[in-house]
Amino acid sequence: MAFICKKFICSRVILSSLWHRCNIVISNQAIITRKHHCVSENDHANHDIIIAGGGMIGTTLAVALANNRALESKNILLLERNSKHEYQQREQYSNRVVALNQQTRNLLSSIGAWKHIEAVRYAPVRKMQIWDACSDAMITFNEDFLANEIAYIVENDLVLHAVDKQLKEKSSIEVIYDAQVENIILPAARGEDTLIKLQNGKQFKAKLLIGADGFNSRVRQSMKSQYLKWNYDQMGIVATVKLSEPTENVVAWQRFLPTGPVALLPLTDSLSSLVWSMTTEEAKRLLKVPEEEFVDALNDALWKVYPKNGIVESGMAALQQLLEQFSLQTGVSRQLQPSISNIVEGSRAAFPLGFGHSTSYVAKGVALIGDAAHRVHPLAGQGVNLGFGDVVVLVQVLEEAVRSGSILGDTIHLTKYETSRQRYNVPTMLAIDALHRLYKGTAAPVVLARSLGLQLVNALGPVKKILMDHAAESPRVR
Ligand SMILES: Cc1cc2nc3c(=O)[nH]c(=O)nc-3n(C[C@H](O)[C@H](O)[C@H](O)COP(=O)(O)OP(=O)(O)OC[C@H]3O[C@@H](n4cnc5c(N)ncnc54)[C@H](O)[C@@H]3O)c2cc1C
Repeated sequence: MAFICKKFICSRVILSSLWHRCNIVISNQAIITRKHHCVSENDHANHDIIIAGGGMIGTTLAVALANNRALESKNILLLERNSKHEYQQREQYSNRVVALNQQTRNLLSSIGAWKHIEAVRYAPVRKMQIWDACSDAMITFNEDFLANEIAYIVENDLVLHAVDKQLKEKSSIEVIYDAQVENIILPAARGEDTLIKLQNGKQFKAKLLIGADGFNSRVRQSMKSQYLKWNYDQMGIVATVKLSEPTENVVAWQRFLPTGPVALLPLTDSLSSLVWSMTTEEAKRLLKVPEEEFVDALNDALWKVYPKNGIVESGMAALQQLLEQFSLQTGVSRQLQPSISNIVEGSRAAFPLGFGHSTSYVAKGVALIGDAAHRVHPLAGQGVNLGFGDVVVLVQVLEEAVRSGSILGDTIHLTKYETSRQRYNVPTMLAIDALHRLYKGTAAPVVLARSLGLQLVNALGPVKKILMDHAAESPRVR
């Protein structure tokens, strides 16, 4: 009897373990799209690098790591919370676009992704015109079209698709979709692995975990790093808009209104992409109004003449005279902004805007990258470009670590990445935040100060060049 019982219990254990294994295999087959390594029949599969978050930054990092000679043998696992989204090229433009700078284009070219973007579509920006609704003070970049393109407008899903195409070529990368990182146990001592638990119970170990999981980063929370953040109580309305008259559409326009900036980014000769920041309340209202009413409000935002303050007017006139005496540019080359005839149906959407910065980007066995580390107002079109800069520097630092025989998750190397990126990101982020605050004010002294500043910078070619060079600076370890 005891024997029968034991045998029965034994076969229950074997059966249940087989059933359990079976379940794991079935569910892994459902979610793993590429499997080049012996992974997940056991729940604790070890990886060199795990990236949490398969957005534009996480996916690009995976490919850039796999592309690097020193790192190509490392096995990389990319965990993405959402299901796989199959890109389909549509005639209609997506309402989510980004302005990529030259350095980002270089990075995407270096990993072979830019050619896929070129094969589909993008719009080059050859000039920028930025002006203040309260004073008409203005700054232009690449006024004479002498420099190369300043930026490239690309749909977010096309960027991701282009990088994903390259990722499929890399045998060292495995991707799991529907994989939400829930819990992270960071190493207590140097050389230990980081343990990553998914919401569905699966667990993985990595020598290095990289958090590319956006501004609500779970990885950042696990680091217990101090996170400086505030909401702007603003939303950015995005939409695809039709210009009243087709034109050679190569200018990015931005008008600072007291309620927030409105920007038009070129897509085609007759279409532009809108990013319009305003209070959350007003954004919610404008999302609901009929399209004609929305277009009227938008044309108002682009064209409405604001009452001018006498002190500001005379201050600006005095500056103009002074600039003329020194034969400096006085803002005569103003180009008229376009009007909007209608919006592409159903293209309106709004996103909350906020600022966030993690005081640490790294700890033992872990690093943050992209919006997980820093989040900015979109008024300068820099958010994702900062993230791509992180990619370049992190890959350089990890390459150095491997070449010097060090451990991937060692803070000695990771700190170099943090220092280098914070030296660039922090001043850029503070400048963007300061611009947002400066342009919110309507008091005459504030309007006067910012208008004089803008007009002066516009007149001083070398200062303008410094600003442009900073935006297009090559990311590197410093
Ligand atoms: C209106 C607007 C306009 C903008 N315009 C510009 C612009 O012109 N130029 C520019 O440079 N930037 C712009 N930005 C900023 C830019 O969109 C972001 O900086 C960029 O999307 C950040 O990319 P990311 O990959 O770091 O993060 P995300 O895009 O947030 O990607 C994070 C990924 O991680 C996944 N994830 C999250 N949590 C988990 C988890 N727990 N486990 C697994 N996966 C997870 C998410 O599903 C997502 O795929 C704009 C932003 C807004 C709101």
